Amino acid sequence: MVSKQVPFTKEKITAIIEKYPTPFHVYDEKGIIENARKFKEAFSEVNGFREYFAVKALPNPYIMKLLKAEGFGADCSSLPELLLAEKTGIVGEDIMFSSNDTPEEEFIKARDLGAIINLDDISHIEYLEEVAGLPEIVCCRYNPGPLKEGNAIIGNPEEAKYGFTREQLFEGYQMMKEKGVKRFGLHTMVASNELDPEYFIETAKILFELIAELSRDLGIKFEFVNLGGGIGIPYRPEQKPVPYDVIAKGVSKAYDEVIRANSLHPLKIFLECGRVITGPYGYVITSVRHLKHIYKDYVGTDACMANLMRPALYGAYHHITVLGKENEEATQLYDVTGSLCENNDKFAIDRFLPEVTRGDILAIHDAGAHGHAMGFNYNGKLRSAEILLRPDGSFVLIRRAETVDDYFATLDMAGLSKFE
Ligand SMILES: *Cc1c(COP(=O)(O)O)cnc(C)c1O
Repeated sequence: MVSKQVPFTKEKITAIIEKYPTPFHVYDEKGIIENARKFKEAFSEVNGFREYFAVKALPNPYIMKLLKAEGFGADCSSLPELLLAEKTGIVGEDIMFSSNDTPEEEFIKARDLGAIINLDDISHIEYLEEVAGLPEIVCCRYNPGPLKEGNAIIGNPEEAKYGFTREQLFEGYQMMKEKGVKRFGLHTMVASNELDPEYFIETAKILFELIAELSRDLGIKFEFVNLGGGIGIPYRPEQKPVPYDVIAKGVSKAYDEVIRANSLHPLKIFLECGRVITGPYGYVITSVRHLKHIYKDYVGTDACMANLMRPALYGAYHHITVLGKENEEATQLYDVTGSLCENNDKFAIDRFLPEVTRGDILAIHDAGAHGHAMGFNYNGKLRSAEILLRPDGSFVLIRRAETVDDYFATLDMAGLSKFE
């Protein structure tokens, strides 16, 4: 059984390695574009639909530009992410700014860019007004607390640090209405890597009903609802992709039942997914450096959790293909490790693979979101390069690998000699 396949050959990857040594991330442009179009198509029947790509998943301007061309906006949550959007040509209400514990300069930049600001707390209304002035349009993030159960990554909403309580929403929108805000949005994000389409339909219903109540009680008109991100991907071979059309149909049905029925049409529906947009189309390419046989058998790679932190951070499964051995039987049990001095620096634990030898090239799947972006320099590890595999088979370096000079760039080594 060939369960999860790679969209490239060993020869193609070997050609890239001749130019750019491993480890690196490679992204499949064709896969990203086809998926973006499928996503857009599935939601086209949903009123005023728009996807704002969560930049934090894959903050590379080349990828953002591809998605912009497909009509996606950008969901940003920090000053550098706002700057990335700006430099990619994504400005104004094509940006959703959803931050938390937000500093002054981020609100100022978001205001300058004309971004839609999504507030994380009731106290941020006055803070935003004070530091940057209140815009004409404001969105609030809702934390449904005990009304909704969360999942493994995001936790239980009651324990989550995000958003307004239900009571605070009533108070907050009233306050903004009095302060002259004209256009309103409502946001929530209660899922992460969720594979059940019903979860998103449920969330939409909760928000639609809340909008009906807020509109009635406060006499305000909502322009959009942002259902957040969090659509999952099948990391494991036995899992299935989320059927976008099931979510779209369910959301449309709830829209008719609540929004149209309460004469609240038109209300635009937004999503801000990251993972499901690019996740399956990125791979960590790494070479096998050493094989080690002690109490267990280890495949030591030239990558480490600085290239892909999810297995270490969440115990997440990432499928691994040994390039050129796709059709060989997985008969050997290995732990696949990195070189960091941390015992959780393992890409896979007790994983059956074909027999691996030194110099084999591994493709670690589903690293196209929350992969390179989570990189760090702990243990002197350098962030790897990012390469885009174009539909015509050519490849482009879209971020070079860090060098030792980059590692020292923030250190004033000349000052060291004067330091007694
Ligand atoms: C992380 C995040 C997203 C994207 O989540 P995915 O799981 O990548 O879809 C969207 N919105 C907010 C506010 C986030 O924090």
